[in-house]
Amino acid sequence: MEKFINKDFSFTDQVERIMACTRCRLSTLCQHRCPGLGDLNAKVIFVGEAPGRVENPDLWGLPFVGNRSSDLLLDAIYTNWPKGYDEVFVTNVVKCNPPDNRKPEPDEIEACSYLLREELALVKPKVVVALGRTAANWFGVNEGLNTARWKEYSWNKRLLFVKFHPAYILRLGVKAELQYMAEFKFMRKRIEEY
Ligand code: URA
Repeated sequence: MEKFINKDFSFTDQVERIMACTRCRLSTLCQHRCPGLGDLNAKVIFVGEAPGRVENPDLWGLPFVGNRSSDLLLDAIYTNWPKGYDEVFVTNVVKCNPPDNRKPEPDEIEACSYLLREELALVKPKVVVALGRTAANWFGVNEGLNTARWKEYSWNKRLLFVKFHPAYILRLGVKAELQYMAEFKFMRKRIEEY
């Protein structure tokens, strides 16, 4: 339990705040809410866009589970961080799933940002991996992902990587999936050296 205690607030408090949040319309429109998941002492945090639609209610409330794009991401993570959620932290910019899997609106992202800031303060990762444009923009990267995916950035003294969202990679096909896996392998090596 010690692991879950932070000087300023605990993880449990944060989950409660996510579940009780009413700061934007998604609080009434969403099917489920999804706190981050993983090791609170993780060196690396992965940040997606928003929880997706999940058919299986048993899987509601977990980031990146229950569909093929989540499988691709988890494959890329577990291949390189074999302890998975026991050594990394996975979350989203927005904690409620937008209706019909639409993109979150700018005001929804703004309203939800305090929760991601809290997670970042709680986990204190040395490395951030932004998955997709919404997350890249949140961390201040506005150039195209085709360029950004090869670069290393700095965000608040942390190393920042930008990768495509796994849902986009899935649409591109198997070759892109293999390329994605290779990029994660290379990124893991760079993080080791950091
Ligand atoms: N599931 C998530 O948790 N995040 C995404 O960005 C997509 C699916």
